Amino acid sequence: MTLRLDGRVAVVTGAGAGLGREHALLLARQGAKIVVNDLGGSTDGRGGDSAAADKVVAEIKAAGGDAAPNYDSVTSPDGAKNIVDTALEAFGRIDILVNNAGILRDKSFAKVEMDDFKAVFDVHYWGSVYCTKAAWGPMTEQKYGRVIFTTSVAGTAGNFGQANYGSAKAAVLGLMNVLAIEGRKNNIYANAISPGALTRMTSGLGMDESFMEKLNPAFVSPAVAWLASERCEVTGGIFTAAGGGFGRLHYFETFGVQFDTSAPITVEMFDDAFPKINDFSTAVPAPAGTEGRMQERFDSLKR
Ligand code: NAD
Repeated sequence: MTLRLDGRVAVVTGAGAGLGREHALLLARQGAKIVVNDLGGSTDGRGGDSAAADKVVAEIKAAGGDAAPNYDSVTSPDGAKNIVDTALEAFGRIDILVNNAGILRDKSFAKVEMDDFKAVFDVHYWGSVYCTKAAWGPMTEQKYGRVIFTTSVAGTAGNFGQANYGSAKAAVLGLMNVLAIEGRKNNIYANAISPGALTRMTSGLGMDESFMEKLNPAFVSPAVAWLASERCEVTGGIFTAAGGGFGRLHYFETFGVQFDTSAPITVEMFDDAFPKINDFSTAVPAPAGTEGRMQERFDSLKR
């Protein structure tokens, strides 16, 4: 089970800058042929310029790798199909998809316009759906695929002013959870990274710049390259990656309570049991599907 990616073909969306560029450069160094997708727009998703993707393709080629550019937006099924077709036409297959493209339109929930909400969902959530859907057929046929989604602490924990972004990033995890289950039988694994890095997206957001400078986006990409490799036999995982630190993030569920269902269950009963329901000292990981505390309680109902 090799870490190398020789003979593999990877699509990285939004690879013209920031994290996506670093992912593309590292995947290429690991031996993969790369489709560098980027529409070359601004941080808020407006405009477009083919130079962003072209530059990264040139960098990969200058380092002895192989890459092809694609300038489509991930925000439509046709664009996503063109992105995957670029891989199929240039390199004959697609093994790895890194859903990385992203924009920001931050505003408090009170002030955010619905158009800005939808634009953020279009890129982060629908872009991930469309690109993964376009890659799913070829990956299923060849019985091999590695899909890496990009979530954010704004989605896993929340962040002021990012209702659109945070909910799109959480929606991506819902998609990943289901695809991890559906893909497993065909050796298609779906995982997510939750990165932190100084890029144009995070510069100027009022964060401590001298600290942010320690968060080189290149420090995130080894997690992506590992998740993209045959060595990765994890699916449905969320991996944090920032400033050279890595971890795995998971939902937990407390032991909770199981009431006798032969009698009515009241709000007072819930209130009395709340300290136990809320007691995280008893919590265990709540894995995908039907394991964990919920399953234990269902099992007790069957007995
Ligand atoms: P970035 O702005 O440097 O790069 C994003 C790239 O995506 C840009 O090159 C942009 O042109 C491209 N892009 C935007 N919309 C696109 C579209 N519709 N189609 C194709 N390409 C498009 O930002 P980044 O910090 O490198 O962000 C990369 C990913 O990481 C994003 O999904 C972002 O939400 C996520 N993320 C970043 C951080 C961080 O600390 N930088 C933290 C959490 C999550």
